Amino acid sequence: MHGLMQDRPLLISSLIEHAATFHPDTEIVSRLPEGTVHRTHWRGVRDLSRQIAQALQALGIRQGDRVGTLAWNSYRHLALYYGVSGSGAVLHTVNPRLFPEQIDYIVNHAEDQVLFFDTTFAPLVQQIAPRLKTVKAFIAMTDRAHMPDIDVPNLLCFEELVAAQSTEYTWPEFDEKNASSLCYTSGTTGNPKGVLYSHRSTLLHTLMELAPDTFGISSAETLLLIVPMFHANAWGAPYAAAMVGAKLVLPGPHLDGESVYNLMRDEKVTFSQGVPTVWMMLFQYLDAHPELPTRSLGVKRVGIGGAAVARGMLERFENDFGAEVVQGWGMTETSPIGVISKLLPKHQGLDKEALMPVKLKQGRGVWGVDLKIVDADGKTLPWDGVAFGHLHVRGPWIASGYFRSEGGAVLDEEGYFPTGDVATIDPDGYLQLVDRAKDVIKSGGEWISSIDLENTTNSHPEVAESAVIGVAHPKWQERPLLIVVRRSGSTVDRDAIMKHLEARIAKWWLPDDVVFVDSLPHTATGKLLKTKLREQYRGHALP
Ligand code: ADP
Repeated sequence: MHGLMQDRPLLISSLIEHAATFHPDTEIVSRLPEGTVHRTHWRGVRDLSRQIAQALQALGIRQGDRVGTLAWNSYRHLALYYGVSGSGAVLHTVNPRLFPEQIDYIVNHAEDQVLFFDTTFAPLVQQIAPRLKTVKAFIAMTDRAHMPDIDVPNLLCFEELVAAQSTEYTWPEFDEKNASSLCYTSGTTGNPKGVLYSHRSTLLHTLMELAPDTFGISSAETLLLIVPMFHANAWGAPYAAAMVGAKLVLPGPHLDGESVYNLMRDEKVTFSQGVPTVWMMLFQYLDAHPELPTRSLGVKRVGIGGAAVARGMLERFENDFGAEVVQGWGMTETSPIGVISKLLPKHQGLDKEALMPVKLKQGRGVWGVDLKIVDADGKTLPWDGVAFGHLHVRGPWIASGYFRSEGGAVLDEEGYFPTGDVATIDPDGYLQLVDRAKDVIKSGGEWISSIDLENTTNSHPEVAESAVIGVAHPKWQERPLLIVVRRSGSTVDRDAIMKHLEARIAKWWLPDDVVFVDSLPHTATGKLLKTKLREQYRGHALP
């Protein structure tokens, strides 16, 4: 027997209508590529998204068609999130930091019909346009006065396109399982793979993102969204902010320390989300400007994910900003929330040192995400915080396969998605990432966690960033090589780093060599690019 409740589809258009109805005047602040600050509100974004939906119809875009964006975080991109998905088309957020050949590949693979782009990317669009087989129109996200001078077929002006449409519009209703957006993983190995979200998966994920035990976002929040809107839907924040009517601050391409600091101060930001590399840039800026206040900014929480949070980063936010760090683990395939780190009532009253190891774990499972760790034969391992194995996840916002992929089954026999990560889970359900399976260092039949070694190295006050990779070893198969970026002005040396590590990790984990570099390579989503490092240091002679 079915229940007797109304069967309303969970659609993304409902979010923007809610925000415009109940929080019409709450501000959406954008720093545009040109540097100017633009202000609108949820009603303005709603109106724009309705115009976009109708402009797409006028261009012949039908439900299910893919619409690409090459764009920074801005109100226009936000309106595209709603206008495209709300109309039933699929928003394909292309990561502009990928190599041009990868961008060709994914736009062609997705069969994008039109491509919206920020003027910053005009040279890129000019370069790739001849190779894009399905794109019928290129739409520059600007007004007529700022149109880029490029030679591509059917170049249109965003502002003219939308101005021709009414702000009155009734969103179509359709199956909540229909695709809403598409995001390709950055593909550090092989071709990028497309994760195809649905309206239903997005709305369920959004509900969980708001809960007090996760990111706890409310209408009282001013959210500075550093994580790009082309990276796993900016961790769902554009939807979450609309569901509660939070103020959004969108930094455009301006992610340097000074710009981020100024936005925090000027817009009275209470919560911000970003990957560790952006926070390192903020800290570097603050190192050079010790006179700038931090605690009085009023930042209450910082959401960090995509890579492990180092102790130094956590402490700096706590001590200097008076802000709580909320770490999350996830991936494009998990929408991306998988686990979120929050303390439990039983942790109250524990001292700082006792709490630190708990806080540094990636987090606990949330409703909607089933977790398991398995050994090489697929056998489930215990949650004792010691046994580590391949992490598999299952739930309504976890991918079941990749878009238009020819590969075989993605899920295991119980319907779980194998993440490619190796983790432990403790009796309280806290997950700790040991490594990506492909990054773990195999030394004499045992595993060494590169992440653990990096975290321990990063806790040295004079280290800005570090990377650990396995280097071939005649006896042990692989041994760790530590690559360090010093903090500006520091002359810290190998001995000091080794002493720091000796006091904190098992002897057989100690790196066989330490090299110092000025910077480390990162992927398009801000992770250490270990494939490049492994190539660079292949055959490195260990002492
Ligand atoms: P990419 O497109 O670069 O693969 P994703 O954001 O999908 O980007 O990457 C997901 C991966 O990032 C995870 O599988 C995990 O290895 C790593 N990751 C995410 N969050 C964390 C975290 N909090 N700590 C450590 N690693 C993380």
